[in-house]
Amino acid sequence: MEFDIAVLRGDGIGPEIVDGAVEVLEAVGNKFGHTFRFHPYLMGGAAIDATGEPLPQKTLEGCRKAQCVLLGAVGGPKWDGMPAELRPERALLDIRSALGLFTNLRPARLYPALADESPLRRDIVAGGFDIMIVRELTGGIYFGDRGYRQGKYGEEAYDTECYSPVEIERIIRAAFETAMKRRKKVTSVDKANVLETSRLWRRTAGKVAEEYPEVELNHMFVDNAAMQLIRDPAQFDVIVTSNMFGDILSDEASQISGSIGLLPSASMGVGTIGMYEPIHGSAPDIAGTGKANPLATILSAAMMLRYSLKLPEEAEAIERAVDAALSDGLRTADIARNGETPLSTKEMTKGVVERL
Ligand code: NAD
Repeated sequence: MEFDIAVLRGDGIGPEIVDGAVEVLEAVGNKFGHTFRFHPYLMGGAAIDATGEPLPQKTLEGCRKAQCVLLGAVGGPKWDGMPAELRPERALLDIRSALGLFTNLRPARLYPALADESPLRRDIVAGGFDIMIVRELTGGIYFGDRGYRQGKYGEEAYDTECYSPVEIERIIRAAFETAMKRRKKVTSVDKANVLETSRLWRRTAGKVAEEYPEVELNHMFVDNAAMQLIRDPAQFDVIVTSNMFGDILSDEASQISGSIGLLPSASMGVGTIGMYEPIHGSAPDIAGTGKANPLATILSAAMMLRYSLKLPEEAEAIERAVDAALSDGLRTADIARNGETPLSTKEMTKGVVERL
């Protein structure tokens, strides 16, 4: 079969890790007899430098024509001083919004081979954990009204969080559907003791839950969730939460898995186009050094095969190859222990391709 994939390499380590994922996809194509056509477009700082805009129209049109989008990461100190509307990160919000990608799936699991890399005590992670964070992606405080105004102490900055029942309902439903294919447990995370949007979130979650009697729903305040994730991560199956809480909790979940360089994500929504990217940023501190871990992006490519291209066997082949690479002791610098010689981005990619 033939597939068209828009590729947005972005900034910092983005090009290095995306090249790794493309190499793995090409190997999968050879193994299973598929042709993946990769269509590169500019996004983020690279797009600002070339066109003056973080998300050029040509990029958006290219993504709309493709079946799915593979993204590296955007941003870096070079563009940090730019006005908010012209920063590379603006492109992330705009593309999610333009493609209607309201559901962000962020799996966080402990690879048995990396149990010693988790900062959690061995007895806490002994049984492993396998969590799916379902983060709302196109609403909430990242998209609300913002600006400066006169307040009690003179000029003040403000951001607002807005959620409608429609937006909450569809993400909660995505979480329940995900849970039905897993261990049938949803934890809805909010701050309903303080925030009105959270109270609406909690009520709506309760209503949607009535349609899924087989799934257990519990509610948790976000501060408690942050604590429970490090106290007993195995208690969670699916966590569903708002844009900002999901952003923060999924970074925490990544660290207890061993490294942020391991966590993939899938963004889906109203249309048929999905976008796949690692949860980490452009890591300017290690860009160009060959130290970046490509596994989060390679695993994002596996999610792309599963969810957008309906190739579950091929997705599993990648996931098994990554498992095997880690079990065989292959380590990039972020997961190498004292005394271990870390592999470069290219060497780790080669290790995965060989195991395919
Ligand atoms: P970051 O995720 O880029 O880096 C945090 C730390 O993790 C750094 O020490 C980095 O070296 C390390 N790291 C990240 N990915 C790694 C990998 N694959 N392998 C090994 N180590 C890895 O977060 P940050 O430093 O807060 O942000 C850097 C830039 O990225 C900023 O401009 C930020 O706005 C942007 N950003 C972009 C995205 C995105 O494109 N989706 C997400 C988050 C941050």
